[in-house]
Amino acid sequence: METTPPQNPYYSRTDTEPLDLTDEEWKKVLTPEVYSIARQKGTEYPFSGKYWDYDGIGTYYCAACGNRLFLSDAKFGSSCGWPSFFETLRKDGVKYLPDHSHGMHRTEVVCGRCEGHLGHLFDDGPPPTGKRYCMNSIVLEFEPEESVQV
Ligand code: FE
Repeated sequence: METTPPQNPYYSRTDTEPLDLTDEEWKKVLTPEVYSIARQKGTEYPFSGKYWDYDGIGTYYCAACGNRLFLSDAKFGSSCGWPSFFETLRKDGVKYLPDHSHGMHRTEVVCGRCEGHLGHLFDDGPPPTGKRYCMNSIVLEFEPEESVQV
């Protein structure tokens, strides 16, 4: 599944300037899969994504805009069926929004650059933070580390 359409001119792994696009524009530059999660706040089926059970060493980027989000060092084996991290790579790499949908009180996590929906934040993660960033594989893009330090 291709998550980074080459026709997305807003995608950048170095530009951290916030993006403010219309829904119409997002629809044009994202794949339907990424659009449905990032812009329509969808959720992939648990145990279905490509990263829930993945332990490669490297960096996770936002599939919608290229923003650097997580390091594999902060990923942990969660039984929930979605890729889970105990901390973000940069403090302002993501934003938090209250989410009272579906009769629950949760904290939504969105990308700090494009404000695309990534997943939710829970307080049942492992040390050292006790946090669980429960993300959707579809809106993440993994880049392996070039040279692993031995
Ligand atoms: Fe983004």
